[in-house]
Amino acid sequence: MQTVTVLGATGSIGCNTLDVIARHPDKYRVFAITGNSQIEKLLQQAKACACRYVVIADESRFQHAKHIAEELNIQAEILCGERYMNDVASAPEVDIVMAAIVGAAGLNPTLAAVNAGKRVLLANKESLVMSGALFIQAANESNAEILPIDSEHNAIFQCLPSHAEYGDLQGVGISQILLTGSGGPFRDRPLETFSTISPDEACAHPNWSMGRKISVDSATMMNKGLEFIEACWLFGAKAEDITVVLHPQSTIHSMVQYVDGSVIAQMGNPDMRTPIAHGLAYPERIDAGVAALDFSRLADFTFSTPCETRFPNLYLAIEACQAGQSRTTQLNAANEIAVEAFLNERIRFDQIETINKETLQRLEPTEICSLQQVLEEDRNARDMAEKIVREIS
Ligand code: NAD
Ligand code: MG
Repeated sequence: MQTVTVLGATGSIGCNTLDVIARHPDKYRVFAITGNSQIEKLLQQAKACACRYVVIADESRFQHAKHIAEELNIQAEILCGERYMNDVASAPEVDIVMAAIVGAAGLNPTLAAVNAGKRVLLANKESLVMSGALFIQAANESNAEILPIDSEHNAIFQCLPSHAEYGDLQGVGISQILLTGSGGPFRDRPLETFSTISPDEACAHPNWSMGRKISVDSATMMNKGLEFIEACWLFGAKAEDITVVLHPQSTIHSMVQYVDGSVIAQMGNPDMRTPIAHGLAYPERIDAGVAALDFSRLADFTFSTPCETRFPNLYLAIEACQAGQSRTTQLNAANEIAVEAFLNERIRFDQIETINKETLQRLEPTEICSLQQVLEEDRNARDMAEKIVREIS
């Protein structure tokens, strides 16, 4: 029996995680779940999974939560605040932590799980993009096991040879990591209409159902940019080891090419329960509730290169990746502010790139050696991006 904490339980990944866990009551039990604003949903989840603790991030909702917990007759202890999120991520009873909080808010609880040497199912790519080397170093020191949940990285992980040493891709005969992406909802939309894209249009992904922030990131392809950076850290790859390939059908979730000409791809229906189940059970396999891929119904299987004019944010992220840690921390922060401003209709869709690019231009690269510096860099970039939003909105 493995004991699991789900950080960000009310989100898209969190719900899918609880769905997979509920299919295997003989294998997993839930220790704690956390959420931010959807209190009723969180408490319904607590009732269904019979967890011991519920942690609410937003302190202003604590009393309301206690009230609902009483009404629903929930046995779990209700806690509130970041300190308790860190506690339930690092408690000695816990074996596995699903890190599925969105954005920089996930950094501290995810690192708490890493420092405690847990098996960490990493969905929160932003924490790795922000703190890269420090994150990996912490995992090495604590012997935490980081398993990628992002579907592309989970696919790459499955296509690597089991004896691959971290950072030695050439040593095991790998020539390229092929990071695939669908291109999102605007792959074919006329460029001159980009300024009129609404938040709802940007959040309507053709293949995946996800939270709003990552959906907008998918539409700008900043998501693929963050994934590019994430892949470098997860697999010890250099920017030149990775090629982004557009694959609109999202059937292949990524590939690894070897020097002998072989390409190994991981395929499946686009359903996050597959990588979640893989991470939970690794190295075993469990039922994820995902329908088998039906090859007789796959009409198209196409590939192309993402165009820089259409997806400038992707190339901004690749550049930041080459420029080093402080630039990726700055870009991640700027992008969170820009996406939020777009979702609140303060800026246009095409201005997300303006905010990101301008923030990087106005800030200098710095040396990052501590978590303190990561958080400072994150704060500076947020302030700068917010200032630029006010200037242009
Ligand atoms: P979501 O918006 O659906 O859910 C986010 C979760 O984080 C919610 O439970 C919310 O309560 C919690 N949260 C938000 N702000 C918080 C705060 N300030 N403090 C504490 N908790 C907070 O997001 P999602 O789509 O589930 O994505 C979660 C993470 O997984 C993101 O980092 C995303 O990039 C990554 N990811 C998601 C998918 C997907 O298919 N949804 C795929 C790959 C990677
Ligand atoms: Mg992904």
